[in-house]
Amino acid sequence: MALVVKKFGGSSVATTDKILNVAKRVLSDKQPDDKVVVVVSAMGDTTDDLIGLAQGIDAQPYQASYAREMDMLLTTGEQVSIALLAMAFQKLGQPAVSLTGSQIGMRTSSVHTKGRILSIDPSRVIQELDSGKVVVAAGFQGIDKFGDPVTLGRGGSDTSAVAIAGALKADTCEIFTDVDGIYSADPRIVKGARKMQEITYYEMLEMARLGAGVMQPRSVEVGQYFNIPIHVRSTFTDTPGTIIREDYTMEEKGFIIRGVAHDEKVAKFAILGVPNQPGVAHKVFASLSDANIDVDMIVQSIRNVDQNITDIVFTVEQNYVGEAKRVIDGVAEKLGAIGVVVEEDVAKVSIVGAGMLGAPGVAARMFGALAKQGVNIDIISTSEISISCLIKGEQLRTAVNAIHDEFFSND
Ligand code: ADP
Ligand code: ASP
Ligand code: MG
Repeated sequence: MALVVKKFGGSSVATTDKILNVAKRVLSDKQPDDKVVVVVSAMGDTTDDLIGLAQGIDAQPYQASYAREMDMLLTTGEQVSIALLAMAFQKLGQPAVSLTGSQIGMRTSSVHTKGRILSIDPSRVIQELDSGKVVVAAGFQGIDKFGDPVTLGRGGSDTSAVAIAGALKADTCEIFTDVDGIYSADPRIVKGARKMQEITYYEMLEMARLGAGVMQPRSVEVGQYFNIPIHVRSTFTDTPGTIIREDYTMEEKGFIIRGVAHDEKVAKFAILGVPNQPGVAHKVFASLSDANIDVDMIVQSIRNVDQNITDIVFTVEQNYVGEAKRVIDGVAEKLGAIGVVVEEDVAKVSIVGAGMLGAPGVAARMFGALAKQGVNIDIISTSEISISCLIKGEQLRTAVNAIHDEFFSND
């Protein structure tokens, strides 16, 4: 007997035929006494379509004042897919029950549209599994202490699945998606991207954080916390995928970098001409943090002409550009800034790899690859195992391919 958690993403359940196929696939893998929890996302582009509906009311629906209603809206997507998948199991003769985030006991923080899981009480799930049912659980959603639905951020069904696997001490956690594993770059952008057999939580978390949308970053953290190997694989084929785990177990070639990640959903803010004195950066970033807006790259530069003023430049997630602009306009006015400039046609390209720790010259190779293609670098930021460059959005494809060629073409 095994207790297994399987998650199917939006493209895997995009139509009722696909939902029936998911049910068939789960049953064909299931041993008679296996206990199975299937976590699903909303069908196809449903979440985007729901956001589109909200934009019909206000072009900027990601504002603090709408956040609760956005969650009320977005959680309906997963409610549709769980009901249909449970019906598909029943049609195939397998007893099944659909459960919402609330019913699976998923308690979250109250930060609407980007909640964090606080705890899971899986008693209902266990009771249903013990009665022989397949449990079909809604991904992406939980409830807060007020009983209100809260979503976990885009891609949050990955995190739901890994967290449920952790809470149940499941034997396996599989993430079924439209690619057959994790590649050295998004295979939709880089034709010669290479599939990995394994990747560490450490490197995958950095890839995900820097935009590799195949896994939500938080899901990798949760996997690491519970030390659950996560198998990312294709819904449509049987080929083994990629295992995300603590350490490499086989001789993967000693790549200096593991992959190239990119992020198009970035917006750049420049607050021009603020006083060059203590407390200014604090005022800017505290006001963004009060509005629950995450800031990514940050640069502050002194002006040569007038050392009494400085420019503060940073990036935020594009969804929050309207809310960030409102906050920053207020702060800029209070600080007597010359102005605020927002650019949305930017993107971030990054290299990731624990191997770069002991390898000098990696940054130079990355910048050289960009220079050869005439890609200008606007901002550079680094972490222990990554280097990121902010560039023009229209040059993203060229940049990702050039960097991938530089590091992967000669192996
Ligand atoms: P799902 O709906 O199953 O959650 P997602 O669209 O969220 O699927 O994630 C799968 C997609 O992630 C792939 O189609 C691929 O384009 C993208 N992706 C980005 N970076 C990578 C990568 N390094 N390896 C594999 N896929 C990637
Ligand atoms: N349906 C949600 C989204 O599109 C959650 C998920 O797919 O993981 O972001
Ligand atoms: Mg996803």
